[in-house]
Amino acid sequence: MPVLNGSYTRSTGRRVDRNRPPFYAACMVPQWVIEKKRNGDELTDEEIRWFIDGYGAEEIPDYQMAALAMAVFFQGMTGREVTTLTDAMMRSGDLLDTSSVAVPKADKHSTGGVGDKVSLVLAPLVACCGIAVPMISGRGLGITGGTLDKLESIPGYRTDLSTGEFLAVVRECGCSIIGQTARLAPVDKRLYALRDVTGTVPSIPLISASILSKKMAEGIDALVLDVKWGNGAFMKTEEQARELARTMATIVAGMDKRVAAVLTAMVEPLGHAAGNAVEVMESIEALQGRGPADLMEVTLTLAAHMLWLCDRAPSVPEARSMLEETIDSGAAFGKWIEMAAAHGADTSFLENPSRFPAPAMRHELKADRDGFVTAVDAESVGRACVVLGGGRRRVEDRVDHAVGIVDLAKVGCPVRRGDRLATVLANDAARLEEALALLDPALRIGDEKPDPPPLIGEVMTGNEPATNRSEA
Ligand code: URA
Repeated sequence: MPVLNGSYTRSTGRRVDRNRPPFYAACMVPQWVIEKKRNGDELTDEEIRWFIDGYGAEEIPDYQMAALAMAVFFQGMTGREVTTLTDAMMRSGDLLDTSSVAVPKADKHSTGGVGDKVSLVLAPLVACCGIAVPMISGRGLGITGGTLDKLESIPGYRTDLSTGEFLAVVRECGCSIIGQTARLAPVDKRLYALRDVTGTVPSIPLISASILSKKMAEGIDALVLDVKWGNGAFMKTEEQARELARTMATIVAGMDKRVAAVLTAMVEPLGHAAGNAVEVMESIEALQGRGPADLMEVTLTLAAHMLWLCDRAPSVPEARSMLEETIDSGAAFGKWIEMAAAHGADTSFLENPSRFPAPAMRHELKADRDGFVTAVDAESVGRACVVLGGGRRRVEDRVDHAVGIVDLAKVGCPVRRGDRLATVLANDAARLEEALALLDPALRIGDEKPDPPPLIGEVMTGNEPATNRSEA
């Protein structure tokens, strides 16, 4: 066996060639990597992997990681750099071995919005069509709700399954939704917390690597991305969302997985409900064929792309028909119950949603004139949910699952004076007052029927070139 003149890097296991210039192999120094990015130069794969490995091993401190994040924020990254960053962050933890799952595996990721309960509808629906969905989800972030918080409003539902339990549910039921484990992309967990307090969250390369380091560790064959734009989303403009979508699609394709990124508008909440238990209830209606039009449009579009990417349908429209039939047959709702039962949930709540605890107070907001609904401001509705206790003001806060907003009117609806525009569910009078102060100006009525942007925008696959700019 020849003795190689090199050493192993942690994230690749590949040998580093010592014959390279000394900077790369013998003496990498964190501040030299930071300075290189600060000056706008492209980092090598070795430099990126070495830095992330060093941070993961706690050999590179938070302050140097934060400095590199700031340099990336200002200078951006090329498609190759951000793909390597994603891969190194993904390899900082366990990679899920889904080889025991016989069917194609696919997942969906949303960049987050208000009233976004799509995962609850999509996972069982897609699983009914012969695709396994091993979904690892997050909690609410800022004004955007979190799938885990919603699921935990169902008594007994465990979001903390072990890896073995998770895989068993995926194998037997076809879908499972759990939270991020400590072993999944641990560098992202630490880096995300650091970005949160160093002003480096809104960077397209950093957001892309953060999201995809977790999703690509799930052992999936295909990923559909719901990239939202609007005042209820992370990306405020369609152009920013397009750049994020393009970057993420290019990374996933570069990792040899199939991908579609769909731009969707988030200028009003999705569906008629925003909160936790109230969104679970709306997901039940959707799976029973009574879902609101906008929720069904987004869910069916994303799910149809999953079926198409996994060769379960020859075209997206045919995939969509399959999905509609699956809802009509009752199979998708049955799968929701099966998945919840496999997670230990008391499924009588899903079969009879009136069992969910009622809030102490209900307050109706009414139209003060005739006209058309011209705005239901998603950001204000998201903020109202947080102040009611449905989201968190501090990391350690417990979420109140019963509060939220229901009966939300949709933009473009004709209304008469006195018609209901929304019902606020609260457990505390002071919080109710705060929420009403936010909601009153958020629900607007005008004389003209408005012309909102299309809900579903561009769909991208992974073939478009990545760009070199970073700021979102
Ligand atoms: N969600 C993530 O997981 N990471 C980000 O950086 C932003 C949203």
